[in-house]
Amino acid sequence: MTTAAKIDIKSLQLPELDEKVRAFGEPLYRTRQIADWLYQKRVQSFDEMTDLPREFRKRLAEEFTFSKIEVVRLLGSRDTTRKILFRLADASLIESVLIPASPALYGSRSDRRTICVSTQVGCAYGCKFCASGLEGFSRNLKPNEIVDQIIAVERESGEKIDNIVFMGMGEPLANFDNLMSAIRIINAPWGLGIGARHITLSTSGLAPQIRKLAEEPLQVRLAISLHGATDQVRNQIMPINRRYNLETLLAACDYYGKRKKQRLTFEYILIDHVNDSPEQARHLGRIARRLGAKVNLIPYNTVHGLPWSRPSPEQQAQFLSILRASGVPATLRREKGHDIDAACGQLRLQTKRQLETAIS
Ligand code: SAH
Ligand code: SF4
Repeated sequence: MTTAAKIDIKSLQLPELDEKVRAFGEPLYRTRQIADWLYQKRVQSFDEMTDLPREFRKRLAEEFTFSKIEVVRLLGSRDTTRKILFRLADASLIESVLIPASPALYGSRSDRRTICVSTQVGCAYGCKFCASGLEGFSRNLKPNEIVDQIIAVERESGEKIDNIVFMGMGEPLANFDNLMSAIRIINAPWGLGIGARHITLSTSGLAPQIRKLAEEPLQVRLAISLHGATDQVRNQIMPINRRYNLETLLAACDYYGKRKKQRLTFEYILIDHVNDSPEQARHLGRIARRLGAKVNLIPYNTVHGLPWSRPSPEQQAQFLSILRASGVPATLRREKGHDIDAACGQLRLQTKRQLETAIS
């Protein structure tokens, strides 16, 4: 068997591990020992699993790969947003962002560390404002490559992560099966043990997959990258809208919200002269009210090489106040990572371009 065809040990669910343990003629308690080495003690090789018989470790190593992701660059410091660029086994670059806990001034909820995780190398959806899609799509991440980002960030930072958002590079719902496997491992008590309600998945609007997600037993939270409150505006900046228009998307969102008894979040980046008019604010208010959703406004982060910029603070405030006046719970996010190119895909793009310049 070639390495490429091997499954990674951190892509397996507990019953699949059980099956392997049984096939190797080992007692079933070995499964728990392995899971414990992987997700609690977090060793980085089969050799370190010292309470497993040497022969068994050898057979595991023959059958499975043991992925490691390598930290290439780390930007930011302890109380700012930190950005980590990783190199995968096939030399692909991906990035994760660690957003620090804010002081728990108003109760315990704010005292959380959040990691923003990538789900694909590149992105095929080509939103006009986004760095992740600029160089197209390379491949889906495997479940272990998704889980590894969290383990590596906890190791690098020495901090325990309480919240996960799939808002890094890639479209999570376009990598549905691998993402679900990863989420099961992240959520399981034998895995990373992070509650489903602390996991948020962001999508640019893959309506059929939103409905499919609604049938999954896990109560993950859903955020929709809306960025335009009419088809006319959305079509200009998000090609996905030509496949699933606003009405199709909203119907799927409504289905998800009702099925999961969950309040959705609409993300709305404010881009100067593109989607920030009072009229868009009023449309957005109507849509959010109809679905009982809340809105996160995010001032656009400039991407090198793209012509877009964020509106003035006054314009941002006006947009927010129109929304609030229509009775929608809305926040305006102050981008913590603006100074270190925190928008998704940017660090990778920058590093790739530097490398390309260096070797040309
Ligand atoms: N593909 C998914 C998840 C990854 S993008 C999605 O589109 O939802 C995560 C969020 O970052 C999305 O809301 C996306 O629109 C936003 N984003 C992309 N580029 C940005 C930029 N330059 N400034 C601010 N937000 C950006
Ligand atoms: Fe892909 Fe999301 Fe970026 Fe659109 S915003 S190109 S879907 S990562």
